[in-house]
Amino acid sequence: MSSTTTEQQELADERRSIERSGRLHGAHWSVLALSLVLTFFVWQYAERQAQDKRESRFQRYSSQVAGLIQERLHKYEDALWAGVAAKHSHSQAVDLATWRRFSSALHISDKYPGINGIGVIDYVPRQQLDDYLATHRRDRPAYKVHPQHTLPFLLPITFIMPEDKNAAAIGLDVAHEANRLRAALNARDSGKAQITGPIVLVQDANKTPGFLFYAPFYRQHSETLEERRANFAGMVYAPFVVAELMRGTLEQQQRDIFLRISDGDTVLYDEFPDNHEKQGLFAEYKLNIYGREWQIATASSPSFWRNTDDSQPKIILVCALVIDAMLLLLFISLSRAHRRSFNFAQRMLASSEKNAAALTQTIDKLEQSNHQLERFAFIASHDLREPLRSLGNYSELLKNDDGSMTDEQRGKAIGFIQAAATRMEELLTALLNYSRIDFSYQVETVDCTELLAELRDDLGRQLADGQAEVRVGAMPTIQVGRNEIRQLLQNLITNAIKFRANDRAAQVEIECTEKESTWLFSVCDNGIGIDSAHQNAIFDVFKRLHRHEDIPGSGIGLASCKKLSKLMGGEIWVESEVGKGSCFYFTVPKGEK
Ligand code: ADP
Repeated sequence: MSSTTTEQQELADERRSIERSGRLHGAHWSVLALSLVLTFFVWQYAERQAQDKRESRFQRYSSQVAGLIQERLHKYEDALWAGVAAKHSHSQAVDLATWRRFSSALHISDKYPGINGIGVIDYVPRQQLDDYLATHRRDRPAYKVHPQHTLPFLLPITFIMPEDKNAAAIGLDVAHEANRLRAALNARDSGKAQITGPIVLVQDANKTPGFLFYAPFYRQHSETLEERRANFAGMVYAPFVVAELMRGTLEQQQRDIFLRISDGDTVLYDEFPDNHEKQGLFAEYKLNIYGREWQIATASSPSFWRNTDDSQPKIILVCALVIDAMLLLLFISLSRAHRRSFNFAQRMLASSEKNAAALTQTIDKLEQSNHQLERFAFIASHDLREPLRSLGNYSELLKNDDGSMTDEQRGKAIGFIQAAATRMEELLTALLNYSRIDFSYQVETVDCTELLAELRDDLGRQLADGQAEVRVGAMPTIQVGRNEIRQLLQNLITNAIKFRANDRAAQVEIECTEKESTWLFSVCDNGIGIDSAHQNAIFDVFKRLHRHEDIPGSGIGLASCKKLSKLMGGEIWVESEVGKGSCFYFTVPKGEK
């Protein structure tokens, strides 16, 4: 491979690589992809953080709710123990009026919202029932204990305040029913406040779930189980409707969670909307409370989502995507700018290549024309020297005449001098005309039939002298320089007559044939013809095949024809046979040159 080819190959490679670097390629896409992946991870991370934050907030709220329930029940427990204290302060003998005073001092509805009432359940062994009834019928003659059962003891609700709201519960024996009884016995045995399992309070018209809260009291201080059983005297109790308890407990708070409380299979309280699963966060835990195990379930409420609406991850995502989009735009605009510069450089290169080509062409032309000029100068000087020499010779002869020359000889010498001068003038005029051919070429519409008719008129005398017959075929109207084609045709017709054969009248035929991209003109004669050896040379300046004395001429006619046809954008050539005639052909391109 030559060094130029290697260089060209390297240049082409370089050009391809520059062109490639102007497109969005692997590196750009990798940066973008990496940035998108980073965006995704940062967004996911922020999203997870937000979620963790939400979850811990939700857990906090959930345990807060449980705490509130416990706190509220502790407060109620305190009220129960206050009732126990009241009982003790009256040596167990609390009558209706005392209990009324006590409960009104408690301000239940103000201080204990959610509590349904506070009352006393007495432990009455069956054999003491009559005494018990007699005691309490003193204040309330209609007082009775119900319903009937067979246990050896009774646990009737002796008092409950406020009375009007809880009237249905007065005299109710809580030992009649297992759930109420079990909690009562647990309270008795443990000495601690206890609650029953779910029940429907007799005083609750809505029949919603509720429970009883017991605090036991004893006839005397009891440490052991046996002592507690032996001394058990009854319980201060409070009935609760769970819905009201919760309203009292949680109402003041703007809660962000839904709550459900169950005891075993019974739902005590339920705020969950039907579609709570879709709400998102959910928690469930157990709460051991006063001898019962409550299941607390919490779910996030719509207000939770409103209050914890964390738009930070979304903002991060949007910002990062905007940055990515800007990055993409930047890449695109950079690559466009690059491509524009590349195209510009290519155009510059192309135009400089074109300029270089034009320059080379001009140099070629100049070289050619220089060469022609040298040739022309050589031929011209050679041909002009001939008459100049004869001019010099005869003037020398006349100058050196010592009187020996006759008049006739002197007259001849002067005649030669005149002829040489005329010839020189002829040659110089012809040369001047030849050199002027290039000056201003102008294309116009030329009707060749009309043009030839004009020429015929102009050449009338020559045609008559040569007894020539000129036939013109169908001629087109073409786009060409009028003066140039006229001069060309005139030279060819003149030559056809001038070089006619002596033995026959000159016949000239002028035709024009349409070719694909040119008009082909021909001027044919039946003259002396041209030897094939000279058929190219006759188009050179001063090239003549005859002596001037035999057939006069300057030798510039065909050289002019060649220059004219070149100027018109075509070619000229001759086909000829000596003794038969010649055909000169020239072409004119169709359309504007
Ligand atoms: P000139 O006619 O002045 O001699 P040209 O340049 O016109 O010069 O022609 C050059 C030579 O070509 C002529 O001298 C002649 O020998 C030859 N020639 C030109 N036309 C014809 C023709 N129609 N038939 C024969 N010879 C021709």
